[in-house]
Amino acid sequence: MDFVKKHIVEPGATVRLRKIATVPDGPFDDKQEAYDFTAETITKMRELQYRLYVEGKQSLLIVLQAPDAAGKDGVIRKVLGHLNAQGVRTFPFKVPTEIERSHDFLWRIHKCTPGAGQVSIFNRSHYEDVLAVRVEDLVPKSVWSKRYEMINNFELLLAENGTRIIKFYLHISPAEQLERFKERLDRPEKHWKLNLSDYDARQKWGKYREAYETVFEKCSSKAAPWFVIPADKKWYRNAAVSSIVCQTLKEMDPQLPKVEVDLDEVRERYETELAQLDDDS
Ligand code: AMP
Ligand code: MG
Repeated sequence: MDFVKKHIVEPGATVRLRKIATVPDGPFDDKQEAYDFTAETITKMRELQYRLYVEGKQSLLIVLQAPDAAGKDGVIRKVLGHLNAQGVRTFPFKVPTEIERSHDFLWRIHKCTPGAGQVSIFNRSHYEDVLAVRVEDLVPKSVWSKRYEMINNFELLLAENGTRIIKFYLHISPAEQLERFKERLDRPEKHWKLNLSDYDARQKWGKYREAYETVFEKCSSKAAPWFVIPADKKWYRNAAVSSIVCQTLKEMDPQLPKVEVDLDEVRERYETELAQLDDDS
């Protein structure tokens, strides 16, 4: 199945999240099939990222946005965590610090974009500045409403500089979220994640949905598309995300550097060293 085609938000398209299912409608017959697919895809993804790293010319930025407990951490642990650590960095964006707040909203973001050969993973992102900030009314509308265009220009700048950008929204239902909140309550090692404000955000589900829909409509571009991933089932979410990352890397087509040494000469030198080793022993 072409997960890119299935989940991409076409530039300018209107998205109605309520009309998009949070559960998958194929293509896997069972969970195991999805697990096998994901494992295979991750292997391919790693090979391609190795090439990206060695090539050292292009970069990849992966943005993860979602309601709480939708699986941003899960995607990082189960999918993106398999990338070679040498070429990847992950950045969680929290409520801005005082210093961050004393700059423009893209300041803290720009510093974390990937250099040539690198992959950056954003756990939340500059989109919080038109999501949480809009819904929680943290700055006036006259301020946040100008940010969509600023974000598009910023992403275009990155794209023109050799960075591919893919942005994932993990789409879960309020019922599934509550189920996961219960799991957190039931598991002591997850208690640190508990937060009353996560429950408050549930009261604003409709407002967040609207804010996300505006983001998809205004900020899904050819250079930096959004993908809406049904995320009630973790096995589908991981399969879809791994496949889209893999497909993107494939399109980037990173190349191993051209061989510049004379292979015969290197082989000859190797044989000489080997003979010497035998003589010495
Ligand atoms: P978590 O990712 O669950 O650790 O929570 C991080 C919190 O920081 C979330 O509630 C986000 O909405 C909030 N956050 C992240 N970036 C911003 C921002 N630019 N302005 C306001 N809140 C933010
Ligand atoms: Mg949280």
